[in-house]
This record gives sequence, C-alpha cells and structure tokens, in this order.
Amino acid sequence: MTTVKEIRLKSRPAGLPTRDNFEVATATLRDPGPGEVQVKNLWMTVDPYMRGRMNDTKNYVPPFPLGQTLDGGAIGEITASKDPNFKEGDLVQSSFGWREGFTAPSASVEKLDAGGLPPQAYLGVAGMPGLTAYTGLLRIAALKDGDVVFVSGAAGAVGSVVCQIAKAQGRRVIGSAGGPEKVAYLQSIGVDHAINYKAETDLSAAVLEGAPDGIDVFFDNVGGSHLEAALDAARSFARFAVCGMISTYNATAPSPGPSNLRQLIGKNIRMEGFIVTHHLDLLPRFHEEMSGWVREGKVTSRETVFEGIDNAPDAFIGLFSGENTGKMLVKLA
Ligand code: NDP
Repeated sequence: MTTVKEIRLKSRPAGLPTRDNFEVATATLRDPGPGEVQVKNLWMTVDPYMRGRMNDTKNYVPPFPLGQTLDGGAIGEITASKDPNFKEGDLVQSSFGWREGFTAPSASVEKLDAGGLPPQAYLGVAGMPGLTAYTGLLRIAALKDGDVVFVSGAAGAVGSVVCQIAKAQGRRVIGSAGGPEKVAYLQSIGVDHAINYKAETDLSAAVLEGAPDGIDVFFDNVGGSHLEAALDAARSFARFAVCGMISTYNATAPSPGPSNLRQLIGKNIRMEGFIVTHHLDLLPRFHEEMSGWVREGKVTSRETVFEGIDNAPDAFIGLFSGENTGKMLVKLA
C-alpha cells in the first residue's frame, strides 16, 4: 500500500456542505522510518462537529486548513512497523481519518484491544459518542431516581446511547427523531414515547403527551425548536445537558434564541453546555460500565455505513439530512 486516496477540503461550505467543497486526492506513502508505523485504515467516522471546523472561525477546535487532508477518528491495521511495540496486523485507533492509509510516528496511534466488540464500535458506542452520552447524562444532567428524560436527536450516535443508558437505569424516556423508521428504531431500544418531530406542529405538546407531569432532564443534540419545547415541558429544577445544536450548524445568519428562555428562571432550570474532551477522567468508569451494558444487551449499537473513501463526503453531508440511524461510519477496507 504505497498509494492511497484521501479527502481534502477544497472550499469552505456556505450553509449545507456540498460535494464541491471536497476533493478526492491521491497521496504516496513513504516507508516507515525508525519509530514509525504504516497503517491501512479500515473505518473512519464522520461527525457533526467537523462542520464547525470547516468554517474559518475560532472554535474549541481549530479550523481545517483549505487544500489539506481532513482529519478525524479512524480504526486501522498496521501494515508495516519500525517500532518493536507494534506488529503487522495490530489494530490501532488514530485521528488520521479521511484517508485510506498513512505513515506516522507510532506515538500518534493507540493500540486497540477490541475486547470482544467489533473494532468500529470504538468510533461509536464505546468511543467518543458513547462517552459524550455518558458524560452528559450522568455528570452534567446528574441523572437521578424518578427522572423523566427527554432526548433530541434521539436516533443518532449520541442520542441513541443516551436513551439506552437512561433505560438501563430504569428511567422514563421521551425521544425525538426525524421520520417513522427512526420512531420504530427508538421503540425497539425501549424508548417509552417516540416523537417524529418532522410530523409535529406543536413539539411541546408532543413532549407533554409522553411526560404529562413534565421532564426533569433534557439532553439536547439539536437546539432550536427542541430547546423551546423542552423549556415548555420542564418541571421545576430540571437539568439541561446542552451537547449540540445541529439545527444551527449550517445557518448562514445568526439563529434566533429560544423565545421562552425566561422559563429558566421561574422553573429554576440548570442549563449547562459541555465538551466531552474536558471529561476524559470518566474514561475508565465509562469503559467498565459500557462494556457491562453492552454484554448484558442493555446498550446495543446501530450503524449506518457508507462504503469507500470516495463516499466519505456524502456520509458527512448525510448527517444534516438525517440519513443515519445510530452511528454514521465509512468502511474503508
Ligand atoms: P447524529 O448521529 O445524531 O447525526 C446527526 C443527526 O442530527 C441526524 O441523523 C439528524 O437526525 C439530526 N439532524 C440533522 N439536522 C437536523 C436539524 N436541522 N434539526 C433536527 N435534527 C437534525 O450525530 P452525533 O450523535 O454524532 O451528534 C449529535 C449531537 O451531539 C450533534 O449536535 C453534535 O455536534 C453533538 N456532539 C457534541 C459533543 C460534545 O462534546 N458536546 C460530542 C459529540 C457530539 P434526524 O433524522 O432525527 O433529524
């Protein structure tokens, strides 16, 4: 493997990204030097946060430079090694996604002990999205006995894990997602009241139908009208874990704020944003608990898979029209 295809950012998207913003390029890999490894990528992830990095604006992660290969999580297999700690065939995790392969210092990859799970689970339920769900629900929202939980973006990578962790802890869960197939999926993972938000004219009423006495926890992946509905449906002392606001990521003008934000005051609501990488101290606990839930079948992993590096931009763009149920992945080999 000396020639690989990779995806570069050709231009910055204005609004919804299009294929024209991306270019498929070919690169030649050098042989690994001392302390280096060569890796063939098997899987790569596409995630909504990458949209923010495509803008030339200051964010919590730096913008992707134009004309250069994008990066992001990937799982690969060592094909050549000049580090005695890595041998051919070892599975590794890296941030060198969006390419079929690479040569890099061995310190920039991490050996993967898949522990009985399929390796791509480490890009989803057992990886960053899973940890995000765990952190937001258990630490930020501080889930407790008797809580009624509302999850937006409930059929996605993060949302589906939030729903399942809450169910594993015996909570009532209301989940919102786009379309009847996603509603059926939510029901299949135990969600008590699944809403197809695309078919609702009054989202607050739809939430209250599933939670007549109101909600105690809101895990928000979407923002906009979902946040407004959650404010309306919240009980006193509700906690809102603000994980994402995907409904605004392609906005070309500032999005209006929720018209009912003052409910934070009267209802004593605590609303807190978070970035998962600030909570890596939870990793050992997360791995232990998550592997238990997965073994017991309490948390299952659903994937939507695009095949081949050429289709990686479409997989990414598809996140914004809801083409995925569960984790959106690209299978590279
Ligand atoms: P998902 O797997 O949930 O994929 C995105 C989903 O968002 C789509 O499937 C679609 O589902 C929904 N969506 C897209 N556009 C809209 C819209 N305009 N209105 C409503 N829903 C929309 O992605 P992830 O699970 O990876 O991420 C979920 C959220 O969590 C994102 O906002 C992301 O930025 C955030 N995040 C935050 C992290 C943190 O550290 N704070 C870490 C990881 C993710 P549907 O068909 O239901 O509309």
